[in-house]
Amino acid sequence: MISASVITIGDEILYGQTLDTNAHFISQRISTEGYKVILRLSVGDKASDIIDALKTAESKTEIILVTGGLGPTRDDITKKTLSVFFESDLELNQEALEDLTAYFNKRGLQLTEVNRMQAILPRGCRIIKNPVGTAPGMWFEKENKVFASMPGVPHEMENMLVNGVIPLIRQKYRPPVIYHKMIMTAGIGESWLSDKIGKWENDLPSYMKLAYLPGFGQVKLRLTSHGQKREVLENETEEQVEKLKEMISSYIYGYDDITLEERIGEILRGKKKKIAVAESCTGGHLSHHITSISGSSDYFTGSIIAYSNRIKEKILGVNPEILSLYGAVSEETVKEMASNIKKLFSTDIGLATTGIAGPGGGSVEKPVGLVWIAIADDYGVESRKFTYAKDRVTNIQFATIGALTFLWQRLTKSS
Ligand code: ATP
Repeated sequence: MISASVITIGDEILYGQTLDTNAHFISQRISTEGYKVILRLSVGDKASDIIDALKTAESKTEIILVTGGLGPTRDDITKKTLSVFFESDLELNQEALEDLTAYFNKRGLQLTEVNRMQAILPRGCRIIKNPVGTAPGMWFEKENKVFASMPGVPHEMENMLVNGVIPLIRQKYRPPVIYHKMIMTAGIGESWLSDKIGKWENDLPSYMKLAYLPGFGQVKLRLTSHGQKREVLENETEEQVEKLKEMISSYIYGYDDITLEERIGEILRGKKKKIAVAESCTGGHLSHHITSISGSSDYFTGSIIAYSNRIKEKILGVNPEILSLYGAVSEETVKEMASNIKKLFSTDIGLATTGIAGPGGGSVEKPVGLVWIAIADDYGVESRKFTYAKDRVTNIQFATIGALTFLWQRLTKSS
């Protein structure tokens, strides 16, 4: 694989005054193109350090991308250093001068001497146009290695990288084909997942890599392969996904960018089932997730946020004896909530949550993060207990995804 390095220049980056967003942007774009960024270096405005960085980068990678230190405010440190590094004198570059003159004319401004200096570049470099600023970029080729030097101003660098540098890199090194496949899982944590599929992962061919991307209660598995032919990669990836399915099919809810909410929507629509929700600790968050899918009115009828016991009792009709005997956060209450919302809203499914989001309100028997979730449907009422023990917002998010996962599992089990 063709490898790349990124060198960002500027004292302010080393001092922590400027966040090195340029390195992040370049890494991201270059990786997406199919080249492998293996090295990132940041150096101050000092010629000898810049030379050292260039030498290191040159010894390890084919593509070397440099930003910063091009303008007059830094005494053109990068340009001068590149001229030394490539042993080519600085001289007036006619094309750069014409571009600069046009840039200033267009804005009705006079070209100053300082700006004219920006057209003085190392001999033999190819200029990279900068349509949104004054400092031109520079492209060098040496012993089958390419070097691009771009300004430090982020929007100038971004424009130049995308429109000038990447096309030149593509001409020089044909990028490999990259094929990604996302496998979306829910209901299993990253470490349990890796226990189940570790052997399969180890046996993947060398051009295929697996990444675990954990989120709230879900893990996305990204299978990435590199090669020359898309169809070949696609077929080989599908073969691997088939093997994976044999191991963890009950945790896979979909592929690529589908969300759990979308998958649930597809199933409910397919089965022509309607759902209603009774929420306590999730405070509407669960209904928000369900209704964030366009067309959810086909299967979602509505919800009651029964936060207080009075609303649980008076509106949702939870038996007051159950509430006083077992408490609001209990299996008995959540089952009543699910059954009652199903009845009240005349739906096929009732889904309910009750729990202690925290930080207050916990006890030894019922700690912060305890959540009960229940589903009532034609097959009966099923409940599950979760203990998240996180901060308030995280508990609510986990409870929401927990409820969605439970719902998806019940829907797929009953199909
Ligand atoms: P000049 O601005 O002198 O013309 P230049 O275009 O090469 O030169 P720098 O002087 O290096 O750019 O930086 C210009 C601005 O861009 C500064 O505000 C600097 O903090 C910001 N900048 C430089 N490097 C980075 C970086 N790696 N990530 C984010 N911002 C940066």
